[in-house]
Amino acid sequence: MYDVAIIGAGINGSSVAYELVKSGKSVIIFDKEAIASGGSGAAGAFISPKFSKAGELKALIDKAFVYSMKFYEENFPYLFTKAPLQHITHEGEKFPLMDAGIVSASAMCDALCKGAKFKQEKISDLVYEDDYWVLNETYSAKHVVIATGAYEHIIKEPYIKLRGVWGHRIDVKTSTINDKSLHQFVSISPSKDGIVAIGATHNLDYHPQTATKPYDVEEGRVELLEKASRMLELKDVEIVKDYMGLRSGSFDYMPLLGRLVLSQATLGCCERKVKVKKPDFKNFLYYPKLYMINGNGGYGFVLAPYLAKMLCRHIVAGVKLDDALSPARFFARWAKRRK
Ligand SMILES: Cc1cc2nc3c(=O)[nH]c(=O)nc-3n(C[C@H](O)[C@H](O)[C@H](O)COP(=O)(O)OP(=O)(O)OC[C@H]3O[C@@H](n4cnc5c(N)ncnc54)[C@H](O)[C@@H]3O)c2cc1C
Repeated sequence: MYDVAIIGAGINGSSVAYELVKSGKSVIIFDKEAIASGGSGAAGAFISPKFSKAGELKALIDKAFVYSMKFYEENFPYLFTKAPLQHITHEGEKFPLMDAGIVSASAMCDALCKGAKFKQEKISDLVYEDDYWVLNETYSAKHVVIATGAYEHIIKEPYIKLRGVWGHRIDVKTSTINDKSLHQFVSISPSKDGIVAIGATHNLDYHPQTATKPYDVEEGRVELLEKASRMLELKDVEIVKDYMGLRSGSFDYMPLLGRLVLSQATLGCCERKVKVKKPDFKNFLYYPKLYMINGNGGYGFVLAPYLAKMLCRHIVAGVKLDDALSPARFFARWAKRRK
């Protein structure tokens, strides 16, 4: 019996594993393919703040940015490169240089999972009995964390809707030396051993689960190089590697962090309390000891350490999570729209 089972070993699941192991919990983490085989393995993993108008999401990402810069630098300096960042608006206005960073995406997920037991297995069966969860009729755990990104919905609840946005990035060998991260239509990393990372596309037309024809890699490369060329002239370009994957985004762009509402049971017992203007999430019924961390959009590596810390405090010490991040907000909206 494990204290916690985590399903999905991307940056979200791996960060949660790290925090829980540090808190003395026994943790098993599953991935149907491998650690960082989803969106996380594709990420350029730039650690940067959000350059946009003030708002709830910007405030969250900015806070997470400060937290994650310190987190990676202090705990994993060998997998983190601190580099100045030059943000350029679409109109060409240059922001002052600021400190930012880049994470070695797959290696970071591996390192975060170190203290947990990793199992390559797809979890398709999840049953709660006698105060604990049984996974695939084989593994048992007191708590379950679902961190499956845009790839799978293990708990089929009608209010959980995530959109997977396909992204493509490339590593490019070039004789051009770049000494900072550049962000405009795409991001270009500083040169390392003659290679720069360029990422990423936001492809709304292609989704691996619904596509009728294969993804056009060449088209993605052309788009990336064209957008990069608007910031920097790259000479003697040779593409050395392509990375592709799905980002998982929620419909209000805020991440999902916390317990999942049992929709039918909640409607059965207390529909009137749900259909009020500002429902109190405390009145909903929840899956016992089951949590979701998801919907980080294009800021997975910025948000994950910060969200994982909060989730760990919640699981271990009962510290309340922010309602603005709760998946219950989607249940409330869905329930109100139901006839
Ligand atoms: C091209 C690209 C570039 C990006 N660049 C950046 C960037 O520069 N900075 C940044 O911060 N973010 C970036 N992102 C976003 C970031 O990568 C994502 O937000 C992050 O990877 C999401 O992590 P996750 O753990 O939620 O999901 P994922 O990494 O997708 O992990 C989910 C895992 O769950 C597993 N899984 C699913 N179902 C099951 C099951 N039933 N049983 C077992 N395992 C299962 C999958 O195999 C997968 O490995 C980028 C994303 C892409 C695609």
